[in-house]
Amino acid sequence: MTAPITKLLIANRGEIACRVIQTAQSMGIRTVAVYSDADASARHVAMADEAVRLGPPPAADSYLKSDLMIAAAKDTGAQAIHPGYGFLSENPEFVDAVEAAGLIFVGPSAASIRAMGLKDAAKDLMIRAGVPVVPGYQGAEQDADFLAAEAERIGYPVLIKARAGGGGKGMRKVDRPNDFRAALEAATREGQASFGDGRVLIEKFITSPRHIEVQVFGDSHGTVVHLFERDCSLQRRHQKVIEEAPAPGMTDEMRAAMTDAAVKAARAISYSGAGTIEFIVDGSGPLRPDGFWFMEMNTRLQVEHPVTEAITGVDLVEWQLRIAAGEPIPMPQEDLTINGHAFEARLYAEDPVNGFLPATGRLEQVKFSQLARNDTGVRAGDGISPFYDPMIAKVITHADSRKAALTRLVDALQETHLAGTVTNTEFLIALAKHDGFREGQVDTGLIERNLDGLVSVPPLSEAHVAVAGIAALDLDPTAPHFGWRLWEEAAHELRLLSDADLVERRVVLHQNGRIELTGGADSVTLSDVLRTGDRISARMGSTQRMIEANVAVWNDAQGTRVSVLIEGVVREFLLPDARWGTSAETGQGDAVLAPMTGMLIALDVAEGDLVDEGDRVGIMEAMKMETTLTAPRAGRVKAVLSAVGDTVEGGAVVITFAEEANA
Ligand code: ADP
Repeated sequence: MTAPITKLLIANRGEIACRVIQTAQSMGIRTVAVYSDADASARHVAMADEAVRLGPPPAADSYLKSDLMIAAAKDTGAQAIHPGYGFLSENPEFVDAVEAAGLIFVGPSAASIRAMGLKDAAKDLMIRAGVPVVPGYQGAEQDADFLAAEAERIGYPVLIKARAGGGGKGMRKVDRPNDFRAALEAATREGQASFGDGRVLIEKFITSPRHIEVQVFGDSHGTVVHLFERDCSLQRRHQKVIEEAPAPGMTDEMRAAMTDAAVKAARAISYSGAGTIEFIVDGSGPLRPDGFWFMEMNTRLQVEHPVTEAITGVDLVEWQLRIAAGEPIPMPQEDLTINGHAFEARLYAEDPVNGFLPATGRLEQVKFSQLARNDTGVRAGDGISPFYDPMIAKVITHADSRKAALTRLVDALQETHLAGTVTNTEFLIALAKHDGFREGQVDTGLIERNLDGLVSVPPLSEAHVAVAGIAALDLDPTAPHFGWRLWEEAAHELRLLSDADLVERRVVLHQNGRIELTGGADSVTLSDVLRTGDRISARMGSTQRMIEANVAVWNDAQGTRVSVLIEGVVREFLLPDARWGTSAETGQGDAVLAPMTGMLIALDVAEGDLVDEGDRVGIMEAMKMETTLTAPRAGRVKAVLSAVGDTVEGGAVVITFAEEANA
């Protein structure tokens, strides 16, 4: 029953929607995007041939609305729906509805999804199929005494898992019998709250676990193949951070055992389409064929599928579309081979230094490295919406060896410049440079154990300050008459805010093109300064060290902002608009600036109020710490620009004062 797909609706957003559209277009398939009001001008909408509005930004009102998806496909004449990952991708009711409407769901049958949807039922099914599972209890009996006895039998430490769980929710590790009941209650509560199902299973906790998964494909003719494994052991709070293929330390024997088990698992449910069998692996020593156990099956395309594409040369989305149209798997198992090594790093708008707090903002510049495949759903000018997953991009590198691919990942990340929002790029670079990871000694606890070293912030470098100064003052040493001024040296007083710190330098321009900065810990001289577009290069200091920087400059209500990238380190500066001065630090400007990004929790003044120098005018809170805002001088409040409860960006103006000192 081959039914050619000529028009496809992509029921998703962001990078995965763009990824699917790209392959569909290369196959000559017309594409229909869907969007919420937050995404009306998003990249996936611009890429598709047509786009249909779903509704307001919350996913429950837009990307999770199965009836709207189906109506959009019908209205536009699409024959098939690709769900991407997340949202409706593993929802069997959606699959039923799609098929009832006479449309093709690009993915497995509803029955396959149901069979793998609950952890306990899936484990039972796998035991029957001869696939190794983690020892434990996954039966119906839920009495607390009974479960405690089971935990004793399994042997501590154990893991309690909500059977309907996902994304690490409803999971509790228990080390001692005394802690069992409290953990059981917590897992039950979380399972009930998040999935409407409080039932749990209990598993042996595998110490030093690795997460290794196998990519499988099935077709409607009964063929199942695998596309080898991916190692996703680098996780934080059960979320994958960097993935790779193949797995480090993999042996032929182990690979044969794992891929064989994965194919058996897929066959057991007559699987059709792309799927992933996740295994937990004993990583306390070298890999052993009796040291891996089935964890769960993801019945969709995975976020990390590009590493498999890189090493096999297969376009997984193309296979998905062909199989959905009824074609057989395009390549026999014998023809599939591993070529080289690949890594994927997930770039997020989040702040590792502040507990990985999700960040929002507008991406003022988006510059990726040519060394990598960069899968993204954003462009410069796009906002990071608080409504969806804050992933900005996936950076994927491929090379002949693991070492070369990892070096390339570091280089690619160091060349990536995302300006306007805080990102986890520096954390990813630190992780990619980690010695244990470099040697392939990975386990799911690596990040947590090394967190302090991975999120440390280097002090502000003078190179960043100098480049920010050149960009903010718009200096061009190659211009005629640079630094030329009658009887006096040409100098600027540079005052920049970097987070809450005031950076003050005297910048002297010499007629020979040199730029001298004084006022920092050491004075520095830049020579051979060259500026082409976003790039600034210079030689710095007595050692003549070469600096290569990328800059982004933009203006907002506070003044001119400059984002500087040097060797993988991005720092943002604000050249405050002359109107505001830099009161928070100098105590004499016309405004109070937020010393850091945080929430305004109290305001003591209103427009027209008179204050004395040093009066408390408000309180801000960030990371549970309060900071008092004080009046920089005596005067009358001209304007209050934020309200209690507002999140205020560091450096933003909160209160301004009237010009006259004693009005
Ligand atoms: P979820 O469906 O919530 O993502 P999983 O069952 O896939 O839950 O497990 C998520 C992660 O938890 C795994 O990648 C692994 O790091 C860890 N984990 C799961 N089961 C065990 C176990 N038995 N022992 C140790 N760690 C485990």
